[in-house]
Amino acid sequence: MTAKSAAAAARATVYGYPRQGPNRELKKAIEGYWKGRVTADALHRTAAELRRANWRELADAGVHEVPTGDFSYYDHVLDTTVMLGAVPARHRAAVEADALDGYFAMARGTQDVAPLEMTKWFDTNYHYLVPELGPDTVFTADSAKQVGELTEALALGLTPRPVLVGPVTYLLLAKPAPGVAADFEPLTLLDRLLPVYADVLADLRAAGAEWVQLDEPALVQDRTPAELNAAARAYRDLGARTDRPKLLIASYFDRLGEALPVLAKAPVDGLALDFTGPAVANLDDLAAIGGLSGKRLVAGIVDGRNVWINDLGRSLSTLATLLGLADRVDVAASCSLLHVPLDAGAERDIEPQIARWLAFARQKTAEIVTLARGLAHGTDTIAAQLAANRADLASRAGSPITRAPAVRARSAAVTDADARRSRPYAERAVAQRAHLRLPVLPTTTIGSFPQTAELRTARADLTAGRIDTAGYEERIRAEIGEVIAFQEKIGLDVLVHGEPERNDMVQYFAEQLTGYLATQHGWVQSYGTRYVRPPILAGDISRPEPMTVRWTTYAQSLTARPVKGMLTGPVTMLAWSFVRDDQPLAETARQVALALRDEVNDLETAGTSVIQVDEPALRETLPLRAADRPAYLAWATEAFRLTTSAVRPDTQIHTHMCYAEFGDVVQAIDDLDADVISLEAARSHMQVARELAAHGYPREAGPGVYDIHSPRVPSVAEAAALLRKGLEAIPAERLWVNPDCGLKTRGWPETRASLENLVAAARTVRAERAGS
Ligand code: GLN
Ligand code: ZN
Repeated sequence: MTAKSAAAAARATVYGYPRQGPNRELKKAIEGYWKGRVTADALHRTAAELRRANWRELADAGVHEVPTGDFSYYDHVLDTTVMLGAVPARHRAAVEADALDGYFAMARGTQDVAPLEMTKWFDTNYHYLVPELGPDTVFTADSAKQVGELTEALALGLTPRPVLVGPVTYLLLAKPAPGVAADFEPLTLLDRLLPVYADVLADLRAAGAEWVQLDEPALVQDRTPAELNAAARAYRDLGARTDRPKLLIASYFDRLGEALPVLAKAPVDGLALDFTGPAVANLDDLAAIGGLSGKRLVAGIVDGRNVWINDLGRSLSTLATLLGLADRVDVAASCSLLHVPLDAGAERDIEPQIARWLAFARQKTAEIVTLARGLAHGTDTIAAQLAANRADLASRAGSPITRAPAVRARSAAVTDADARRSRPYAERAVAQRAHLRLPVLPTTTIGSFPQTAELRTARADLTAGRIDTAGYEERIRAEIGEVIAFQEKIGLDVLVHGEPERNDMVQYFAEQLTGYLATQHGWVQSYGTRYVRPPILAGDISRPEPMTVRWTTYAQSLTARPVKGMLTGPVTMLAWSFVRDDQPLAETARQVALALRDEVNDLETAGTSVIQVDEPALRETLPLRAADRPAYLAWATEAFRLTTSAVRPDTQIHTHMCYAEFGDVVQAIDDLDADVISLEAARSHMQVARELAAHGYPREAGPGVYDIHSPRVPSVAEAAALLRKGLEAIPAERLWVNPDCGLKTRGWPETRASLENLVAAARTVRAERAGS
């Protein structure tokens, strides 16, 4: 096919669309069903209505091929588990008794049966339910959901393309089922799985699907030759079936790299590649292998993970290059639009000028359609859109919001020395010991205390105008007073104010920093019916005034013991927000770090001797490809050090992270140069203490001895046993005693009992040491 005819055939498509509905109708219906207020029939009707509305919206916008099967009551990976008959043994009875209730039991667990484990979908903030497989797993095809949704869309007269999680990605995302050897590799089940996929594909074709999309995002990660071989085998096998629809293999979130030639050679009909961000490397890689002759290319050119308008002119020139590299080129978002909010047009509180820079799912869909039209019919057919787009891009680039001279000058002037403490840790430790006079094995908590219903009500009352600021603040002061009194009473050594004023550890700061935007309706799915509204890093970041000093100093005024200041670190501020696409992440991180640095310094000036800067997201934003990790870790650790380095040697900097696995970032943890780090460790029996010790970590650490993810109260003996385990790895002079994480999700009764036991355990182990 010539480039010209490839262009003429260009079509618009997407891989998935926000599922919740404009007013989160799906969340309400599902939660209503759980509470028994909504019948299964009513839930199914709401869901069908939302699917129909989405398809109509896409088709009316000009999308030629609409996705089906992307809808989910909870998670599309769990849907795949159902489609493949891979229901774990412990849930089988429930699923057989009632498919819907069994489905939710797998997702959420029941009184007696644990749910599937949940983890992050690649480097997004969406969480999927991890398939549990073993050598005895038997797969059987259940195409009902996929066929049903396909049939619904066909009935509307649309051209649907079912979207499925591909077999290789499905297996690579799975883990050994409970009771199966930990070294069992689910990928060894591939040959057993392929016939089941073939059955589903045949069913979809029989039901009227011309094309089916198989998503293989796992192939954008570093893959072993054996894994690449498995991918080659999978698509040789599925491609050779005669009763199959046309197959589109989709990749997203990064470049395909060594998997590109594998898929290009496979006997399938099309590939979808990401051409945004670092994945733009796909362009050169595709040229290097001579393009995709005989195949359809779906170009993911509109970023499906950010909230910014596309540079349509630049996209058109990329698309023009791609025309020479495939038989047919279609236009899409880089990934499912599930990861962005629905409609920037719904935001009434964002200045109209700034709102024009934003593109959520609806606006991105319009961009995709515009690009496809420009490609197919010539740029003069989209002249008006191109002109408007150029004006909006210029307004964004030239705005004092995105280019604040003072912020830029300050960031440009940062030197390496600014990101280094004035004294090495050994000297600081001596100064801090003299200043703080803490006992060995000092006790502390991670920051938040229970966010009670009364606190949430007070915040809602303030927002609704039922109470005034003074009334609200009175309530917060009272809470801080109680939290301080409680900690003094049970004998904790380093106290916290409890964070009662914070709605969320990122949002609280985003609301106070210039350059951040908040949305009213910008919900995105985190997992199941949990939706979050990430703030948007829109412009250059600065801090007009102190953000935490007042509450921290109030807490300190109530006690002679040190109260720990509590901030969210720059890496986490980026990870849980929508980030800018018009400058490197490193630059945005540096601006946030400088704003936080001022806060750290103000806290110190106000008399705070211990300051904690939380970085729970440090590990989760690790790039998918190992080759990209050193650069990320370099700017991420620099941003943390820039935040924390201007303090006196005798001011103690803490950080906190919560993950089961730190092994691959221990060097980065070391590079933070924090005086003390608290980490989640209770469930893994102090594994992290051993990892730090093996690395030769030289500073102080508090591996958690209280698992805060459960209402269970650890006994004194249990906490003491964990502490003794910690002591085997970390010497007493450098070991802290603390819970795994903040207590905001816990109730007061178990918090009280657990912290009392934690302090008692520290005393027990101190006494043992004194006696020996
Ligand atoms: N300081 C925060 C808290 O205690 C830390 C939360 C987190 O690690 N996610 O709630
Ligand atoms: Zn935590």
